[in-house]
Amino acid sequence: MKLDDKLYLVRFNTDTLNHIKIADAAVCLKCQDKPCTRICPAHVYDWDDEEKRISVGYEGCLECGTCRVGCPYGNILWGYPRGGFGVSWKNG
Ligand code: SF4
Ligand code: SF4
Repeated sequence: MKLDDKLYLVRFNTDTLNHIKIADAAVCLKCQDKPCTRICPAHVYDWDDEEKRISVGYEGCLECGTCRVGCPYGNILWGYPRGGFGVSWKNG
């Protein structure tokens, strides 16, 4: 089974609380490559050029933890969703 097919089988019980926060939006302004927009397999992070900030679509987070170590400034405050919420794997 291809990765895209596996991702299609992922289901979420979405929390109403965002479990991902950007610590300081000003830091993102000076971050040249904005690696969070490339390293997240679920494309949770997106650079909003109008508002000059990173938008975070936490609902699609796969809880892999990559962004915690991939931000060069340690600017992502990531924790697991509350108990019972978040991703549930199906045949993945
Ligand atoms: S990698 Fe970190 S500092 Fe850079 S844009 Fe993303 S959250 Fe901001
Ligand atoms: S934990 Fe993984 S899936 Fe979730 S936002 Fe970070 S990189 Fe993306």
